[in-house]
Amino acid sequence: MIGITATIPVEIITASGRKAVDLNNLFITAPDPEDLVERAERDGFAHNVCAWIKGIYAITLQMEFKQIIAVTGGDCSNTIALSEVLAAKGVEVLPFAFPLDRSREGLEVQMDRLRKALGASWEAVRRAKARLDGIRMSLRRLDELTYVENRVSGLENHQFLVSSSDFGGDPESFQKDLDKFISKAEKRPPFREVIRLGYLGVPPIFSGFYELIEALDARVVYNEVQRQFSMPDRKADIVDQYLSYTYPYAVEGRLWDIRKAIHERNLDGLIHYTQTFCYRQIYDILLRENLPVPILTLEGDRPGPLDSRTSLRIETFIQMLKDQK
Ligand code: SF4
Repeated sequence: MIGITATIPVEIITASGRKAVDLNNLFITAPDPEDLVERAERDGFAHNVCAWIKGIYAITLQMEFKQIIAVTGGDCSNTIALSEVLAAKGVEVLPFAFPLDRSREGLEVQMDRLRKALGASWEAVRRAKARLDGIRMSLRRLDELTYVENRVSGLENHQFLVSSSDFGGDPESFQKDLDKFISKAEKRPPFREVIRLGYLGVPPIFSGFYELIEALDARVVYNEVQRQFSMPDRKADIVDQYLSYTYPYAVEGRLWDIRKAIHERNLDGLIHYTQTFCYRQIYDILLRENLPVPILTLEGDRPGPLDSRTSLRIETFIQMLKDQK
């Protein structure tokens, strides 16, 4: 097993015979994620460091990962210091950086470096891509079932798409579970909610979010970043695939993807989730200036159930959208 701090070309890991495990998913689905954040704080992480960074740190040590891939470009600058702290504790850290300029050449260099470090051939990487492409196709079907046929909830969509960064550590059983879920969902009656929402930003740290929205006669039919993890734009070439992944590069790519979704998915409004102490909060300015539908910005800090103030803000926002309709 090799831990990853964010989505990377997982095909390279699969081609090397290792299993990728997304440390974010492992942290947030742990029995007590708050406990992991506290462990990191006991080890010296300051209060004003993002809870995801603390969670990744603590889960890496708790699960005794020997090797991780740290995404040091295109994700989070905190990861650079985090990886040095983990390296000092004996974890082997391989860096991977998405090029800021989204250049093909820069991305190829990074992928080749990782491929060599893990001892995988390009031929094996291509074979791994062909294998994972089948799962990615099923994920596209799941997404269609969410926004075209309306048979999948926002939470179900989120859960499968967010897990596509590492395919739950086991692509074969992920595919089986996904296909089983799809055939069940195809037979369900469609949802008929009044309000259709898009969710923007990093995955939420709090729980109960999607459930609350559905209880208010609304549904999330677009999970922006989680969908990007599934590499929704079909590309024959692996470098092209990771160049069309919007999250690590400049915001224009995200804006283009979100505008398309607003139109295609008939969205009434957007919820932009921001993480306390995260630099990505600043993107809220550009999202608000450039998107044509109402946006509610939420902030989450530590893992746990949705707090009452945030719940009230969601309720008011949905009511406003209903009144407008
Ligand atoms: S939420 Fe922001 S600060 Fe936290 S790990 Fe992600 S990018 Fe970094």
